Order: sequence, then C-alpha cells, then structure tokens
Amino acid sequence: MRARFGNECVLEVIEVAKKTPKRVKHIPLRTCVGCREVNAKRALVRIVRTAEGPRVDLTGKASGRGAYLHAQKSCWERALKGALANALKIELTEQDREYLRGYMATLPEDDAPVLSEDVSGVERNPVDPS
Ligand SMILES: [Zn+2]
Repeated sequence: MRARFGNECVLEVIEVAKKTPKRVKHIPLRTCVGCREVNAKRALVRIVRTAEGPRVDLTGKASGRGAYLHAQKSCWERALKGALANALKIELTEQDREYLRGYMATLPEDDAPVLSEDVSGVERNPVDPS
C-alpha cells in the first residue's frame, strides 16, 4: 500500500516535470541597444551583422552577431549614435547608416502616437475650460 502510494507520487512528479516546460512558456528576452530596455525578443527588431554590413533580420534567425532594437525611431536614432556599432562590433559606414536610416524611416516615431500637427500648429495656447 505504502509502496504503491509512493510510486504514484513519483509518477505524478515526473508528469508535472514533463509538463512544466510546455505550460510555462519561456519568453526569450533581449535588450534594445537604443534605450537599454529589456523586452521580449519578438517585440524587437533584430539587426544582424553580415559581410555586407548590418541588415535587418526579420526572421530573427539569420546567423551572425545580432543586436536588437525597438521598432520605433527614437531607439534607432540613439542606437545609430554608437550603441549599434558597439553591439555588432563593427564600424558603421556611410552606406550602413543610409541603409539603417532607410529602414528607420518606415518606423513609427514613438510608442505614443503624437499628432505632429498638434505639436507644430498650435503654439501652446492654453484654453481655460472654466
Ligand atoms: Zn528601445
């Protein structure tokens, strides 16, 4: 009786141990080289070092040294000032910068959508509702 109970316990433990890695999804984390914030790898854009220079790796699987950036301009701007070159251990050529700026141009300004018209058009005209 006791022995059987013990076996059941062992079986249960093994089952739990087997299930755990599946149930608790391991989310790979990466640091954005622009703002240094840690984020889920999937939420970041991977840049991989290739023989032709840095390239955006949309698959996230290209071989080579990689760096990660948020898909927002502010992070890319910051990264282009040196952090990206550091992370990839390369010197960014003018061509590389052009390529990266080209990709950056397709990205949203920032996480928070700010209407540029609101910022430039209205010269901070405080409207008192009362
Ligand atoms: Zn960032």
